[in-house]
Amino acid sequence: MRRYPEWDVTVGVVAGSDGLAVIDTRATAGQGRSLRDDVRRLSSSPIRWVVNTHQHFDHTFGNIAFDDAEIWAHENAAMGLDAHARWVREQRRENLANGEEAPPITTDVLQDVLDTRLRPADRTFSSVAVLDLGDRGAELVYCGRGHTDGDLVVRVPDVDVVFAGDLVEQSGRPSYGPDCFPLEWPAALEMVLGVVTDGGTVLPGHGSPVDREFVQRQHGDVAVVANTIGQLASSGVPLAAALDEGDWPWERAHLEHAVRRGYEHAAGPSDQLRIIS
Ligand SMILES: [Zn+2]
Repeated sequence: MRRYPEWDVTVGVVAGSDGLAVIDTRATAGQGRSLRDDVRRLSSSPIRWVVNTHQHFDHTFGNIAFDDAEIWAHENAAMGLDAHARWVREQRRENLANGEEAPPITTDVLQDVLDTRLRPADRTFSSVAVLDLGDRGAELVYCGRGHTDGDLVVRVPDVDVVFAGDLVEQSGRPSYGPDCFPLEWPAALEMVLGVVTDGGTVLPGHGSPVDREFVQRQHGDVAVVANTIGQLASSGVPLAAALDEGDWPWERAHLEHAVRRGYEHAAGPSDQLRIIS
């Protein structure tokens, strides 16, 4: 694994006898190319697979630098990439217009995000998939909606490692954006915990490696957010007052999207409950 300073994204490489799998590709075409060069310094094996842990730009926009690789993503992440890309380019355009650059996010980096051509996934799956790297396998597991609707985790059983994407963050708080599912995130983390052993290592989407206990604590905080939203919504507290009323594990400014999205999801069963016939 390696951390890169721009958006402090954590990427991974898994080496098998048949080739390398790169997990997440950073935020621009140029950053993807520099990641590819860094991987080259580790090994001359072909990079045959790229896995995107979810659709967000800091994990997918570097895909374009891995033209020979087969790109894997969860089906929701593949479906959501275009919409997310439109949103994030709008944000970066605003950053540029307002002069909101600060190293390591320079104007060049912001412009690179705008100029990067998307390279969508070649292969998708719904629940589980296994990459056969030759002498080892890497399991891609969908744990449900949380940080987005397209988060997957990559488990490498022989070394007891799980790449958790942004379902787990170490260097910052879990990120609740406009596409998060705050009420379902705890259940997704319970499933992640189901594939992490006591001695196992978890690689977060941002930050340093953590252990199972760390993920358990983060699950506790994410569950407090979900339960608080549920209680406020069901006791009739209006959305505008919810942030002030709740007892939150993190500062309120961080939870605006979480509360708005949670209220939407608590109100309507439309996209949460379907009759299967
Ligand atoms: Zn993300």
